[in-house]
Amino acid sequence: MQYKRILLKLSGEALMGQKQYGIDPRRLSEYANDIREIAEKGVQVAIVIGGGNIFRGVAGASNGMDRVQGDHMGMLATVINGLALQSALENTGVQTRLQSAIHINEVAEPFIRRRAIRHLEKGRVVIFGGGTGNPYFTTDSAAVLRAIEIDADVILKGTRVDGIYTSDPEKDENATKFDYITFDDVLKKGLKVMDTTAFTLSQENELPIIVFDMNKKGNLYKVVSGEKVGTKVNL
Ligand code: UDP
Repeated sequence: MQYKRILLKLSGEALMGQKQYGIDPRRLSEYANDIREIAEKGVQVAIVIGGGNIFRGVAGASNGMDRVQGDHMGMLATVINGLALQSALENTGVQTRLQSAIHINEVAEPFIRRRAIRHLEKGRVVIFGGGTGNPYFTTDSAAVLRAIEIDADVILKGTRVDGIYTSDPEKDENATKFDYITFDDVLKKGLKVMDTTAFTLSQENELPIIVFDMNKKGNLYKVVSGEKVGTKVNL
């Protein structure tokens, strides 16, 4: 395996599968199996999960809701997804811990960096819920932040497209995929990998990002073992 400790970012929307809202149990168990495969190889796996399948603060605000209130709902949504993923992982026999950035002690441990690292060293998959714990941030920012804090080798952004393209491949049939691209080129070309806050945090801390198609079975294993899958963003 090329990477020893990874931070996997999964969007909330990815958990919907074919559904319009919420969690598709089949999709969840597919992800759990993919994660089990790499955990069994001794890769230390930390996961940040989004909440967009349940609630987004921005969407609430556009309907007249207080933004901070909406963001709190979004953060809670990530905890719900974290619990679902934890359950699916444990069904496959993987040991896990869920740590939340907002205190919700009956359902998740608080985020404690040293404890998270200890869990990883013991072979437990650590799921970080609650985003960064602050409104006006995204779970992409949480993913980069946690990856840096736990000293992950790489951040793996599992999406439904198989990498970064010159333009949106769902709209432009001439779009071509990058195997590698630098942080500077992503910014120069105006490509969208993560929101700006998350992306620059990753760049400043020299943390590479790999964007890949998480919905293709076995892809996660390939990425972690160093096969050329997806697009790698590097310095
Ligand atoms: N959120 C937040 N602070 C954070 C992370 C998330 O307030 O640090 C809220 C925000 O409202 C966001 C929602 O949680 O819209 C769900 O997160 P996100 O949109 O990043 O999920 P994804 O797009 O990955 O499903």
